[in-house]
Amino acid sequence: MGYTVKFYKGDYLQRQQAANADKAVAYVEHHFNSSASPTASYAVVVVGSNASSTSRNWGRWYAKAVAEQFGTKVGGDGGILVGGWDGRGDGNVKHTKMPAVLLEPLFASHPQQAEAIRSEAGQAALARILAESIRRFFPDGGLVAFSVGHKYKTSSPNDRGAALAGGGTEADHAEKVLEKAARLLTEEAAAPTPRMLRVMQGDRLLFETVVDEDAVIHWSSDRNLLFIPEADGTPAPAPRTARAAPKKAARRGAGR
Ligand SMILES: [Zn+2]
Repeated sequence: MGYTVKFYKGDYLQRQQAANADKAVAYVEHHFNSSASPTASYAVVVVGSNASSTSRNWGRWYAKAVAEQFGTKVGGDGGILVGGWDGRGDGNVKHTKMPAVLLEPLFASHPQQAEAIRSEAGQAALARILAESIRRFFPDGGLVAFSVGHKYKTSSPNDRGAALAGGGTEADHAEKVLEKAARLLTEEAAAPTPRMLRVMQGDRLLFETVVDEDAVIHWSSDRNLLFIPEADGTPAPAPRTARAAPKKAARRGAGR
């Protein structure tokens, strides 16, 4: 079984009710954040005040992945805001029967992030993280409901959300990311995947391989070398320090 993706329009309550009627397995509403301060920067996901643990874990996974990819931090409580900003955003996702997230990955008001939001590579990276999160948390496939924040509301048809620093709107670019994610999801079949190691350059996948679930992967920043132990448990040729204490060495490496 694979994924199908449907974009829901109308007011937010109607979108959620329609997704419920269609028995969607997951619901995503895409926004970009905005602040009066041009330096404000963090990735956060709003989940409903009634959110399931799946919604919460999905939101945290997504926020962390975005923060790592774009070199920012996660906001809220480890990447999620349960019930939104004092209730704002709650009604956008709390009426679904399926897990639901409202994404605020980057800031439209942050000049470099706005540049990333406008770029093909930035949109592709966000789409890939979203598609990957859906494959991870909903491996059996099914109908995925997408909602473009602000746009297509019956009650406020001209709303496009925040202005991007340097030009463009939040909603038009959220829509581009969702369209790219929809293509990624529908191109390949759904299937629970083993642990994969991937090497990417920008939005291009250079290499991928299956690694043992128990393998301790070790990055040597001195040698720009990634060690994957053999599947039978034999350690790969690694510096003596890495063999003696691989976890500690990995942490040290990552901290530099
Ligand atoms: Zn918004």
